[in-house]
Amino acid sequence: MTDIYDSIIIGAGPAGLAAALYNARDRFKTLVLEKFFPGGQIINTDRIENYPGYENISGPDLIEKIKKQAEGFGTEIKTEEVKKITKLPDGNIEVACDKDSFIGRSAIIACGSDYRKLGVPGEAEFRNAGAGVSYCGTCDAPFFKGKDVVAIGGGNTALEEALHVAKFAAKLTLVHRRQEFRATKVLVEELMAKVNSPDGNIKLKLDSVITAIEGAGKVEKVKIKNVKTNAEEEIPCSGVFIFVGMIPNTAFLKDSVDLTQAGFVKCDVGFLRTKIPGIFVAGDCRIGAAMQLATAVGDGVNAAMMTKQYLREADWWNQPISDALMPGEW
Ligand code: NAP
Repeated sequence: MTDIYDSIIIGAGPAGLAAALYNARDRFKTLVLEKFFPGGQIINTDRIENYPGYENISGPDLIEKIKKQAEGFGTEIKTEEVKKITKLPDGNIEVACDKDSFIGRSAIIACGSDYRKLGVPGEAEFRNAGAGVSYCGTCDAPFFKGKDVVAIGGGNTALEEALHVAKFAAKLTLVHRRQEFRATKVLVEELMAKVNSPDGNIKLKLDSVITAIEGAGKVEKVKIKNVKTNAEEEIPCSGVFIFVGMIPNTAFLKDSVDLTQAGFVKCDVGFLRTKIPGIFVAGDCRIGAAMQLATAVGDGVNAAMMTKQYLREADWWNQPISDALMPGEW
């Protein structure tokens, strides 16, 4: 007979492993499914300085600790790519993978997101070497204190993060491919106030794209091109912050839970319920995620606590969720 898990968690990043730790420690039969290897995006980070309790730890070291802790309480981790998740007529949840299928009484989607890349020469090389390309201002701004940096993008993340990074940098040049910003008005006003202030340290390069990131062993300059005039120029800098959106790893969910236009899983943010009772969501793949290691861990813990309530009081949790509680976009 097929084993029935109390909780099946999709994704072994910080959110999924934190959920597993809590589920397993509650003596739930807990399974984590991960298509590559545990860690998610944080595995590529050498130096984490904003995870409470650690002044400095690498992504791989932190993930190894959380994984060991979760396995210590009985979590099973299997390498499987999830293809489909379905609520069965008996109330259980079937998670179909490339090799096998698994049945759970509840499930947590924690499949994460990837940063959208520019795909320009130098980006991958300097990013992989930890030599000046970053996708997270909140994480990496302090490493560029007193340095000149370039940021790219015109959405909410780009403006929020550029304003944050500029508090540390000597000068920040924001490069955006159009004249108009996609970000909300209040952020655009805040940005423009800094750009227009005589002692502000933010400059704009609009209608412009990055064509290359260059340097000897570390970032030293970017090349940009004006998309209207084709004029090219170089901007000397020590760091490049790329804020051109996220791509959630949710393509396999399109026939099950609701997704936003950008592909994030819709949920009632407080309880982390998707529209399918018993299927919860945690971390960077959900709508409104703060995209931070600590918030992903918090989400995982919260989702695990919700699965516990769901398994205890199924009647209440099986009621439909009002649309008013499910934000459409953010
Ligand atoms: P986003 O809204 O998709 O914005 C991406 C930005 O990057 C856009 O300005 C886009 O330019 C630019 N871009 C995309 N691909 C590019 C490329 N190849 N080269 C150059 N530029 C490129 O992404 P986001 O800012 O990360 O936000 C994601 C979602 O989270 C959005 O729904 C956003 O509203 C939400 N969010 C909300 C808040 C908040 O409410 N406080 C904070 C953060 C994020 P174009 O504009 O020309 O397409």
